[in-house]
Amino acid sequence: MGNFDRAPRKDFGEREMFDAKCSECGKDCKVPFKPSNDAQGNPRPVYCKDCYAKRRPSRY
Ligand SMILES: [Zn+2]
Repeated sequence: MGNFDRAPRKDFGEREMFDAKCSECGKDCKVPFKPSNDAQGNPRPVYCKDCYAKRRPSRY
């Protein structure tokens, strides 16, 4: 049945990254999801790796 020509997975374990600007420090960064607006039309904040790590409480 499926005679689809599957594209070879060259990106081994790597996701597509999207250009974004960190909402915290304003640095250009890449995020593994497409920056978009939420249901209310507000732009979703994105954070670079550093700020994201800073925002994340280390307690678990
Ligand atoms: Zn940042």
